[in-house]
Amino acid sequence: MSAPDLVIGGVAVPLGTIVDVELDVGRLPNHTRLNLPVRIVRGSKPGPTVWISAAIHGDELNGVEIVRRVLDSVDPKRLRGTLLVVPIVNVHGFLTQSRYLPDGRDLNRSFPGSTKGSLAARLAKLFMDEIVEKCSYGIDLHTGSGDRTNLPQVRADMDDPDVQRLAIAFGAPAILHSRVRDGSLREAATSLGIKTLLFEGGEARRFEEDVIVMGVKGVRRVLAELEMIRLKVPDTKRCWYARKSTWLRSGRSGLLRMAVRLGDEVRKGQVVARIANPLGDDEFVVKSTVAGLIIGAARNPVLYQGDAVVHVAHGAEEPCGFDPKAITKKKAGTNKVGAKTSEAQGDGAPKPAAKKKSKKAQ
Ligand SMILES: [Zn+2]
Repeated sequence: MSAPDLVIGGVAVPLGTIVDVELDVGRLPNHTRLNLPVRIVRGSKPGPTVWISAAIHGDELNGVEIVRRVLDSVDPKRLRGTLLVVPIVNVHGFLTQSRYLPDGRDLNRSFPGSTKGSLAARLAKLFMDEIVEKCSYGIDLHTGSGDRTNLPQVRADMDDPDVQRLAIAFGAPAILHSRVRDGSLREAATSLGIKTLLFEGGEARRFEEDVIVMGVKGVRRVLAELEMIRLKVPDTKRCWYARKSTWLRSGRSGLLRMAVRLGDEVRKGQVVARIANPLGDDEFVVKSTVAGLIIGAARNPVLYQGDAVVHVAHGAEEPCGFDPKAITKKKAGTNKVGAKTSEAQGDGAPKPAAKKKSKKAQ
């Protein structure tokens, strides 16, 4: 059987093989060469080409370990199709344990990039040309940013039936509908017709076992849904499906005492946190402006006014199961809580505290 050529970084990848390629990212200021390692697992049977990437934000590490374990579980002789796996996309940020590149730019706001642009734009362009454009599907792995942690969740354009099917297959505790217009990898890939999921889980600079296990299972379920690997029938669990999300912010500087945990369901008006001075005086109470699910939370108790406290997913009528029909039905549901809210964002970072946002915390 003849198969179309697959060439990554100038290296041909035959069927039924695992090939490691180092893409040339340029040099560090001391003239050391810097490479972007890619592992290609090309199955012996035909199937889709999927990329799996982690650490686009250089300090988000759970995905790096998820990628390693997924690779460990895949046999190229049994695989249908091809995996292009990049455990650390932001090689610069990873070295300095930073979300950003040395030029201060966020790589996930620099797509699709260009060969003549900033350092971030050039890396984005390389990733698009060598990886993304060769794929039909992609999974991008993230964690919460800065001192924030995220409930394991999938972010996806749930208005696209193919993406919706894969998001449900992933089996994370929550799915957040989001369309992106922000220079992210997901936006750039989606604009090329490539179906993309973003997984968020845990916090930066950690390996968190529960998140990693969930991420590995989720990625493998998606590969099974694409019929690239075989799995036993996955367990059906309830998940939260939300059309919107809102960051509740601190109205005052102080020390944070959280009253809820990730995964808690909250009512509108429920107290989610208290912020007070170091002796506990001058207490400011943060109440939820919506009914929903806590999907993100601050980890650092030291806060300024306007800082993000918790992230609440909402806009679905109720939790739903892994039934695409149920999801489609929920999608039509109205947002009963009706707060001034935004569509979910593309990654784990809250928008900067600005304008009306800070008023959402009460
Ligand atoms: Zn991220």
